[in-house]
Amino acid sequence: MALPTRVDDSAPPYGTLVFDCDSTLSSIEGIDELAGPRKAEIVALTNRAMAGEIPLEAVYGKRLELLRPSAAALETLGRQYVATALPHARELVAALHALGKRVCILSGGIRQAVFALSEHLGIPDGDVYAVDVFHDRAGAYAGFDDESPLARSGGKLELVRQIARDDRKGGVALVGDGATDLEAAPGVRRFVAFGGVVRRKDVLERAAISCTSPDLAALLPLLVATDELEQLALLPAHRDVLAASRHAR
Ligand SMILES: [Mg+2]
Repeated sequence: MALPTRVDDSAPPYGTLVFDCDSTLSSIEGIDELAGPRKAEIVALTNRAMAGEIPLEAVYGKRLELLRPSAAALETLGRQYVATALPHARELVAALHALGKRVCILSGGIRQAVFALSEHLGIPDGDVYAVDVFHDRAGAYAGFDDESPLARSGGKLELVRQIARDDRKGGVALVGDGATDLEAAPGVRRFVAFGGVVRRKDVLERAAISCTSPDLAALLPLLVATDELEQLALLPAHRDVLAASRHAR
């Protein structure tokens, strides 16, 4: 897969902020958590895909076919996403919403599980892009949406372009840790390589902007303009995340 070698960047403000889920809003890789005793095998596949060594579509169906996650397993995973949300994830989303921004999750993860996190963060279902997994009536695995762009490399680029077309207020910024996020960088005005959970060298080196703090408050000044920070300072509900953003670098 072709990773962009140079990524253009333009300063805030943006109208829409798009976040990856696994190893960005949450410290886990969902699919790895579903793996149980096969974890080592699945982790190795995930890492190679996120480092850009093998295309996502080469591992996506394979991992799910090995794991065949039940509806109950995805419910458990949803709870794990919420329990492992990074510090200030909710507060960051609330501050961005207060500024009138659209906040989206764009994830190669499984929709049912990602919905638990988006609900926790106050992000409407319509702003969540993830992959559908199907179950039979008994809750047993019955396949996934193999047409989803998010199950193949290059898919995030397609979807951020669609999100950018819907944006009327200043374009899109994208935050993510993986090769599939970096691939989408040409479709956005700013790509922030996030290394607060995993530091993927190829992604961090190619990005114009990066953040290696595990505290998501550190993203705030990278995603909003100075006058927007001043607006937040006037709103008591958002003072804490603003103060944390100054320390979490
Ligand atoms: Mg990720």
